[in-house]
Amino acid sequence: MLEDKNQERTSLEKLGEFGLIDHLTQNFQIQNESTLKGIGDDAAILDFGDKKAVVTTDLLIEGIHFDLSYMPLKHLGYKAVMVNLSDVYAMNAQATQITVSIAASNRFPLEALEELYAGILLATKTYGVDLIGGDTTSSQTGLLISITALGEASEEKITYRDGAKPNDLLVVTGDLGGAYLGLQVLEREKEVFKVNPNNQPDLEPYSYIVERQLKPEARKDMVKLLNDLNVKPTAMIDISDGLSSEILHLCKNSKVGCNLFEEKIPLDPTVISACEEFKLDSTTVALNGGEDYELLFTIDQSDFDRIKGNPNLTVIGHMTDIADGAHLISRANTKIPLTAQGWNSFDPPK
Ligand code: ADP
Ligand code: MG
Repeated sequence: MLEDKNQERTSLEKLGEFGLIDHLTQNFQIQNESTLKGIGDDAAILDFGDKKAVVTTDLLIEGIHFDLSYMPLKHLGYKAVMVNLSDVYAMNAQATQITVSIAASNRFPLEALEELYAGILLATKTYGVDLIGGDTTSSQTGLLISITALGEASEEKITYRDGAKPNDLLVVTGDLGGAYLGLQVLEREKEVFKVNPNNQPDLEPYSYIVERQLKPEARKDMVKLLNDLNVKPTAMIDISDGLSSEILHLCKNSKVGCNLFEEKIPLDPTVISACEEFKLDSTTVALNGGEDYELLFTIDQSDFDRIKGNPNLTVIGHMTDIADGAHLISRANTKIPLTAQGWNSFDPPK
């Protein structure tokens, strides 16, 4: 028996995802010069000469990260790739290859895995990445998918989480909160379906937010846009856990504070109306919802003219001295400390 029954037991929930990562990895030191950046950013950066290689990996587990009762397998395959590509783009790099590893129980026939791979295929074609390998094994219960993405960038282009300076502008791509609300709609329809399986849901009014949840797009286009505009962000991260949590990552890594302006947070009209329907506060949803896979970055003020007026880019705040802390400036002009209620897979299921 590996387990020592007398050992102290600390619940993972208590540590949280980031606390757990910090704890498990604290004794690992970089031993190779080619490891330019190891743990702690959206992706690792490896130095193999002229170009730098970018590597990131994610693990998705049925029942934790996805629910097959409303997530079609094709969408799941597509989304699993997006989650990884998003981390590559968050380094201001180009994604080039992926590996895909799966573990499936005998509940899944060939046809189901074909659907999954149809989604993966569509993603590789749309984003121009090559599937170069992986691993396949069986599992006791559900489906597990682990994807690794590789990418490349020149050293000058790579953007870490730690380069933001006080007075830099905080910018976000697209709009926020949609993916979370799409999930609320799908969860509600699932409950309705349980009660009355003949009830065909009309998801049409919610198509934008449902699509944000089921078929997100990684912002390859925004990396290109920044390049075309000749803007190099000082720091960047992708929004997987929620705006609040990602801002705090940028602040912590860059050793700066931040003022985020509530009135500037970009919201789609569908998000606003769905919030009213679900009696949710749209700011809370944007701050803590997660899974939007937009890019959040900081730029020097002198770059403002290059990005202003672009409908895809919204300035939502600015960085401050670390001593000022990280705050939301509400519409009523009150200063509220930002807290990381980001999505935590160790939270007990609701
Ligand atoms: P993201 O949300 O962008 O995918 P994570 O929060 O999952 O990033 O991870 C943060 C950092 O910690 C990344 O550098 C990631 O590679 C690293 N990391 C996550 N889990 C582990 C682990 N079990 N062992 C080592 N490093 C890890
Ligand atoms: Mg990330």
